[in-house]
Amino acid sequence: PADVETLGRSTWTLLHSIAATYPKAPSPAEQSDLKTFMGLFSKLYPCWVCAEDFQAYMAKEKIRVGSRDDFGLWLCQAHNAVNTKLGKDTFDCSKWEERWRTGWKD
Ligand code: FAD
Repeated sequence: PADVETLGRSTWTLLHSIAATYPKAPSPAEQSDLKTFMGLFSKLYPCWVCAEDFQAYMAKEKIRVGSRDDFGLWLCQAHNAVNTKLGKDTFDCSKWEERWRTGWKD
């Protein structure tokens, strides 16, 4: 449905933007905050089937929060898992920072 897609696009924008501004060398507190945020996010995401699958993904693919690169790549791979599930093309994760930090036009 259209609202699941609008919600999804907006949410990926938020999540990849968080990755793009996450420190290259995060403190233990920053790492813990991101883990907590993503854990709660996966429970509260208001598309219930999406949230259920994303929680299962997080149980299988442990979140990486050790640096901007770690989280950015983990998130790109998580997004690609959703892309694959939905029959969409996968995204080249060597380009995540160009897409979401340096920026290019969609
Ligand atoms: P989106 O997938 O929303 O992507 C937006 C933009 O991000 C793209 O245009 C591209 O520039 C960029 N991008 C694409 N892939 C990547 C990547 N791997 N890394 C970085 N950037 C990338 N929808 C469902 O129907 N069923 C689900 O189960 C479902 N689960 C979801 C789970 C989560 C956690 C989220 C956030 C969304 C979920 N969605 C789900 C929504 C779905 O992922 C899309 O957001 C929606 O279908 C709209 O897709 P889109 O083609 O506009 O691009």
